[in-house]
Amino acid sequence: MGGQTREPDALQFDLASMDRLLRLDPVAGIARVQAGMRWRRLQTLLDPHDLAVKVMQSYSNFSVGGSVSVNCHGRYIGESAIASTVRALQLATADGRTLELSRDSEPALFGAVLGGYGGLGVITEVELDLARNARIARAVAAVPLEDYPDWFEANVLAGEGVVLHNADLVPPDFDKPLAITWSRTDAPLTDARRLVPEGLDYSREQNLIWSATELPGGDALRERYMTRRLLTEPRVIMRNCEASLDVASIEPRTRRVSTYLLQEYFIPTGAFRSFAGRMRAILRAADADVLNVSIRHAVEDTTSLMRWADRDMFCFVLYHKQRTWQDARAASWTRALIDAALDHGGRYYLPYRLHATRKQFARAYPQAEAFAAIKHGIDPDNRFRNLLWDRYLPRA
Ligand SMILES: Cc1cc2nc3c(=O)[nH]c(=O)nc-3n(C[C@H](O)[C@H](O)[C@H](O)COP(=O)(O)OP(=O)(O)OC[C@H]3O[C@@H](n4cnc5c(N)ncnc54)[C@H](O)[C@@H]3O)c2cc1C
Repeated sequence: MGGQTREPDALQFDLASMDRLLRLDPVAGIARVQAGMRWRRLQTLLDPHDLAVKVMQSYSNFSVGGSVSVNCHGRYIGESAIASTVRALQLATADGRTLELSRDSEPALFGAVLGGYGGLGVITEVELDLARNARIARAVAAVPLEDYPDWFEANVLAGEGVVLHNADLVPPDFDKPLAITWSRTDAPLTDARRLVPEGLDYSREQNLIWSATELPGGDALRERYMTRRLLTEPRVIMRNCEASLDVASIEPRTRRVSTYLLQEYFIPTGAFRSFAGRMRAILRAADADVLNVSIRHAVEDTTSLMRWADRDMFCFVLYHKQRTWQDARAASWTRALIDAALDHGGRYYLPYRLHATRKQFARAYPQAEAFAAIKHGIDPDNRFRNLLWDRYLPRA
């Protein structure tokens, strides 16, 4: 979304065909894969062993190398960013060496590559801790915004067998989190699919999102076809089924007029109420076209250098729509949200539009100085570039 894979007049690597499973230890729950592999392919290989990816995004289309390079996270309860699940990785460097990195072998470089957005070299292999697949049941509850942090602690963190959780805030008021919690169960499956098949037709879902955001009465449509369904439809499925969702289901039909974008803010858990209040005021004042805000939780990340969770965080993921010519409008309220996150001791996420000022970036990621020094050591001629690092990386 911001040129993180792009640089003018540069050679671009496509790792899509580097998608082999190199080693699988089903007993220890460890897999080593080539970095171009997408989660969906890994899930196909893990599922027969009743294994699952431990931490990944909400959708399964992303590559392992790209996920590790942004230090992604998901809805997994009790887990941190993906860095915590990476045992080792192989890095091809600017001078043509191949390094094996881990917590024991060159730990500083290992930590910098996780969330390093390709700035230090090409990750060619990744070794991951896995989780067990499980049967999970969905419970949905409407919780008042003010009560959410206490409710979350009592029902999710201290809940029995909770695997996945998020809470959705919807327009116009963003004030009633709809808490969606998936917990282990022995109940019979309501959907027997092990994985979501690839290549399904999502016209219905795409039309529904379009209608809810463009037509008069869109909020009522959303309430009727999305919220009410969630509240009333029991669902018991396999973890791998929920983890293999396809981003095609939330894609726009066309990008000629408008597109959907993401943003994310990481807020220390104690600042939830205050940040949520300021976020709502900013979105309202800007009349921002936000489809929903998904709240998640991540445990402190103690592995990556450019960590976005230096303590336990609530994560606010904004999914918004904009006319393709209105980027500047979104830029101003995005900067206001970044300021709000920073004022609460939080951060913003880097895979998206490059709206942050350099000052905001420096406040959010003071570790960038150390990252720049490591980059200068391993890539002194700055061969590994992209628009993110061009704009923000302090000069070494
Ligand atoms: C619809 C949608 C939903 C999302 N949901 C989530 C979510 O739930 N949680 C979350 O954390 N994020 C989420 N994201 C953000 C997502 O994790 C990042 O955009 C991620 O980078 C996507 O992976 P990719 O394989 O497309 O990576 P790319 O976009 O291809 O790469 C990302 C960065 O990593 C670098 N890179 C890629 N591969 C390598 C490699 N092998 N070696 C070195 N550098 C490499 C690239 O140069 C680039 O800087 C979402 C994004 C979208 C569009």
